[in-house]
Amino acid sequence: MPHPGPGEVCVRVSYAGICGSDLHYFLHGGFGKIRMQEPMVLGHEGCGIIQAVGSGVDSDRIGQWVAVNPSLSCRVCDECRAGRVRFCTSMCFMGSATRNPPVEGVFRQHVVCTAAQALPYTGETLEEAALAEPLAVCLHAISQVNGLNDKRVLITGFGPIGALCLLVARHAGAAHISVTDVSASALDLARQLGANAAYDSSVPGALDALTEEGGCVDVSLECSAHPSAIADAITATRPCGTVVQIGMLGLETTAPLTHIVTKELNFRGSFRFDVEFEEAVKLIASRKIDVRPLITQRLSLAEADKAFSLAQDRNQSMKVLFKF
Ligand SMILES: [Zn+2]
Ligand SMILES: [Zn+2]
Repeated sequence: MPHPGPGEVCVRVSYAGICGSDLHYFLHGGFGKIRMQEPMVLGHEGCGIIQAVGSGVDSDRIGQWVAVNPSLSCRVCDECRAGRVRFCTSMCFMGSATRNPPVEGVFRQHVVCTAAQALPYTGETLEEAALAEPLAVCLHAISQVNGLNDKRVLITGFGPIGALCLLVARHAGAAHISVTDVSASALDLARQLGANAAYDSSVPGALDALTEEGGCVDVSLECSAHPSAIADAITATRPCGTVVQIGMLGLETTAPLTHIVTKELNFRGSFRFDVEFEEAVKLIASRKIDVRPLITQRLSLAEADKAFSLAQDRNQSMKVLFKF
């Protein structure tokens, strides 16, 4: 067991979720320009139990259930001082190869982090806390928009991020939520979770109801990064509406720029999260956002190959967790 230094805690990991970026590292050694230079431990969606504390940390915290915030900013660079800590130029993000050497992730028995990164979790079952990180991503994405109350919302791409966006949009009082995907089981789950409409975007004309007359959606949350889904989101959004781009693939993706111009769309990117992590932990613990239907498998680390292939199969899984 690693020893926590001053101001740090050692967390015994209980559950950790497999994310799209873990799959990119696993399958392709990275994404965009980011390439793994050496072996590293993946995973940034972890939760567990505090096993030991370093000096300066209240020993009462030993035994506490926590969600691990994978992001640690330096607090001194220009971006940090401007309050944009997610753009920290010295960011340490667990399970990420953006730094060299990389920051090891949470797919391991013990993780040492600062006491502030281990957020107390008071929910009924610990496994749900593994979804705090992706939920924080969605809360941050929706913070790019001026509220969703009474809005017509489109979510393109119904993986874990799309599904969490649906839960957040419902919680935020959206009037009508449409979902698009190409997986029948994803669309079924969308309906179960309260989507008003779920469309198979691979069927020609499936989105006509959304796209006629220049689009009828106030806010599109684009979670797939697939060029055709980006085009759907832009086409379905009404003039002066907002498209939030959350999904991310390669560096170059085509998009119908003309519609952004002629409809004066707000096209916003959304990257990771800041303060939303703490809010995500509370929303999950109180089950105001009930993430339980998203957890489809729990596998041991010994079953890692199976876990990674399940996580790639969208007809069989939504969120796959490692259970330690
Ligand atoms: Zn993630
Ligand atoms: Zn910084």
